[in-house]
Amino acid sequence: MENYHSLIEKQKAFFRTDKTKNIDFRIDALQKLRMAIINHEKLLVEALRIDLNKAEFEAYTAEIGFVLAELRFTISQLRSWAKPKKVKTPMTHIGSTSYVYSEPYGTALIIAPWNYPFQLAIAPLIGAIAAGNCAVIKPSELTPKTSELLGDLLHNLFPEEYIAVVQGGVTTSQALLNEKFDYIFFTGSVPVGKIVMEAATKNLTPITLELGGKSPCIVHEDANIKLAAKRIAWGKFTNAGQTCIAPDYLYLHKSIKDRFLKQFKETITELYGEQPLHNPDFTHIVSDRHFERLNSFLTNGDIYIGGSTNRDELVIEPTVLTNITWDDPVMEDEIFGPILPVLEYDNLSDVVNEIHRNPKPLAFYIFTEDQSVQQKMLNSVSFGGGCINDTVYHFASPHLPFGGVGISGIGSYHGKGSFDTFSHKKSVLKQTTRFDIPFRYPNVKDGLKKIKMFLK
Ligand code: NAD
Repeated sequence: MENYHSLIEKQKAFFRTDKTKNIDFRIDALQKLRMAIINHEKLLVEALRIDLNKAEFEAYTAEIGFVLAELRFTISQLRSWAKPKKVKTPMTHIGSTSYVYSEPYGTALIIAPWNYPFQLAIAPLIGAIAAGNCAVIKPSELTPKTSELLGDLLHNLFPEEYIAVVQGGVTTSQALLNEKFDYIFFTGSVPVGKIVMEAATKNLTPITLELGGKSPCIVHEDANIKLAAKRIAWGKFTNAGQTCIAPDYLYLHKSIKDRFLKQFKETITELYGEQPLHNPDFTHIVSDRHFERLNSFLTNGDIYIGGSTNRDELVIEPTVLTNITWDDPVMEDEIFGPILPVLEYDNLSDVVNEIHRNPKPLAFYIFTEDQSVQQKMLNSVSFGGGCINDTVYHFASPHLPFGGVGISGIGSYHGKGSFDTFSHKKSVLKQTTRFDIPFRYPNVKDGLKKIKMFLK
């Protein structure tokens, strides 16, 4: 039976030395991490190619470059974020001053998935380090090369009492969850998210859950069709659709459906070639099990675009399914692959009703030029985050906290959001001893009358 008790105890002892709370220490750690990633760029690209056949372009933009940008931004802002924030003090507290201190929780557990195996382990780690925590990372077992490289990289940079990487699958993850961490940051599926939350309740450990779900994408009658087609194809087929915020299904207004689909077909050819199955840079499906699950959807509705597969190489080409209804299996759970089912609509309120019948999505996208339609959708649909006239792009802004709502997740991160997620906000009142306002004490004459004047 795996046991990580002594590792966690070592981290707790290190945390208690207060070294990680020093801002220079944190910035130094982030700088070291940044340099190591820059120096490992080639090896990382190779590992991601072996694990998922990720093209260098995708490996750099969505994994390596993404975390380098997060690091640069965090390093430049950290001193200002970490300062105690002076806040207002009400009249009732005259004489005192009020501050909010950001303090690290202690030792954080970060559990990562396989689809962006580097980025989704390192981006939370940046937040954990920036906020002054120690951390244990459990990368995905389904991307062994990248996880191993990530382990070596961090092992060479930091002592394990500060940052440790524990390799393994479900049993390792569960053994770690048996320990008492001060924070748990989990990225993965909804069912495992529930297991993590249950484990956290034993110690009332605060958590962030970055989960998934079916993210709708709507193309309205007045949309810029060409741009919509390009931005949807990119968001959906990047990483072969294995992106938590990829458009899961498409709602097309009846009046533009044919025009959009024709354009979409051209766009897919433009982005991925005449034969995407033979495109050496198209990402593969992560495992046989995921391939079989996706393959079973290809009998749903009619194949309008694509549909070819290569079982040996675990490739499925960009595929669009039409004549789909909510009763088709492809509409049951998050697809997480390069298959895009298409539904059509006349009236946007029907779309809103359908979305409401399902759990709150992680992402939501609508393409329309009409600002009143944009506003109406923002007002009536609850979702983690999303875009108007784009897909996926909101993820890459450090100014937009990223996370889900309802079953798509709890909490958020990126940029200052990551620092805040890994910080407890400690409110402190600094009181004067030069005088003492008497009203709060029960023995003051007319005290209650005076208090009522202040409080009502
Ligand atoms: P997963 O839930 O199967 O696994 C995630 C991690 O949890 C892995 O490290 C795995 O080893 C561990 N794990 C698996 N089963 C476990 C169990 N029973 N107990 C404890 N730990 C367990 O997810 P995945 O297949 O790696 O990733 C795909 C899912 O992640 C999709 O649902 C996707 O939407 C979601 N995701 C969400 C985000 C986000 O930012 N919100 C990002 C990427 C992926």
